[in-house]
Amino acid sequence: ITFESLPLDPRLRQALVKENFSKPTLVQSKAIPLALEGKDILARAKTGSGKTAAYVLPVLQSILQRKSNDLSLKETSALILVPTRELSEQVQRVIVSFSSFCGKAVRSVNLTQKVSDSVQRAMLADVPDIIISTPARVVSNVNNSALSLDHLRQLVIDEADLVLSYGYEDDINALAKAVPRGVQTFLMSATLTSEVDTLKGLFCRNPVILKL
Ligand code: AMP
Repeated sequence: ITFESLPLDPRLRQALVKENFSKPTLVQSKAIPLALEGKDILARAKTGSGKTAAYVLPVLQSILQRKSNDLSLKETSALILVPTRELSEQVQRVIVSFSSFCGKAVRSVNLTQKVSDSVQRAMLADVPDIIISTPARVVSNVNNSALSLDHLRQLVIDEADLVLSYGYEDDINALAKAVPRGVQTFLMSATLTSEVDTLKGLFCRNPVILKL
């Protein structure tokens, strides 16, 4: 498939051109069409496969689509969970570059940034569209009511095999309770381990499994 054949917002097409993404990678060509149909996805995909854009583009598309009717809409509709601060910074950079033609329509906050609690609270009070974080930071901000997951539509767990092995089990169980039913889930993982199976059971509805 080609990027041109996908039903993507013109602002995302512009960004693809700017980023020199001329042809989808394998994981992108398999995952993006299914994701745009609203399917849950469990993909075995390593770093370097293009896995980040495989979920970032559907997440941005969904936000732009919802906001096309009402630009003033303020709700956190996407949560991207990662095991480390480094990965959360990397993911946010991808989001920023792919949303560079979207103006204020897409705002993201990385909760692993080293900023004071009051600065973080202020960033959350502005209700970003996308949160990128480790599980622990999300749970603590939900618990102190700085962050609401009530309007969540999409959940990504990147490097899903590492998320549980890094000791986020209690946080993940708390999140499984806090995430609304019917959220579209993307599990991206280099390996399909029992940890990934546990996450699948907690968060997925009948996912399409891509073993690439
Ligand atoms: P990732 O696996 O998401 O970490 O991506 C690995 C690298 O491949 C990043 O530098 C991306 O910018 C690049 N990349 C991902 N998809 C494409 C694509 N379709 N065309 C060109 N470069 C890409």
